[in-house]
Amino acid sequence: MTTFTSEDLKNALAGAEQQDDDNKNYKETYLADAIRFKMKRDKKRFWAGDNISDYISEQDKSKLIDEATEAFETVLDRLLIDRENDPNSQGTARRLAKMYFNEIMAGRYEQAPDATAFPNDTEDRYQGMLVVRSELRSICSHHHQPVSGVAYIGIIAAKKLIGLSKYTRIAQWCARRGTLQEELCNDIAREIMKATGSENVGVYIQAVHGCCENRGIMAHSSLTQTTVLRGAFETDPGTKKEFMDNIKLQQEFAPR
Ligand SMILES: [Zn+2]
Repeated sequence: MTTFTSEDLKNALAGAEQQDDDNKNYKETYLADAIRFKMKRDKKRFWAGDNISDYISEQDKSKLIDEATEAFETVLDRLLIDRENDPNSQGTARRLAKMYFNEIMAGRYEQAPDATAFPNDTEDRYQGMLVVRSELRSICSHHHQPVSGVAYIGIIAAKKLIGLSKYTRIAQWCARRGTLQEELCNDIAREIMKATGSENVGVYIQAVHGCCENRGIMAHSSLTQTTVLRGAFETDPGTKKEFMDNIKLQQEFAPR
């Protein structure tokens, strides 16, 4: 068993302090720190569910992936995983970094999908309800565990319409971040209102959460449902009922 003298401890602390100073100087060379500094200066929120694409260029992304790779290497080292000799762990740090930026959190770093709007303002314009079913993949910001489910997006058409696939593109763009289902439901409603100009929007999500299935309570069949209602969906019981009935019809057509 190794015993430490107080002298050892003092030396170790001095070493750590020195390293801390080195880290501080070194950190300033990270692009991620420069971007964080800018966002703080602009009072731009950069939570796991926020889009920060205005602060990141396409070239920045490859530098950020390099920096995250280095950080994930440290995480693997701290977890005592032999990334030098274990063939399955070689390259894992880079795979993780790329996966975060390009896939599971891509919605933070990419601009909103462009949703060309078509006029819906003639005499015989569509005035009914539209319900779109969108499959979603996300991760929870608490545990970075997968969340998978379906969103049903309902709107009463306003004076413009967007392509049907755009509802799903917008929903997926919101989902591919670190989210909470409650927050995600709100985000999708807000972005759909923005893209369609409709004040009357409903979003219902049902999803299973990896953080409840793979750990913690290990509940294999737990399902979480959230609903956000805006405009007539909230105030008119008939509209709300039509939305909920449509969801049931959709579920008969394509069970989750
Ligand atoms: Zn979680």
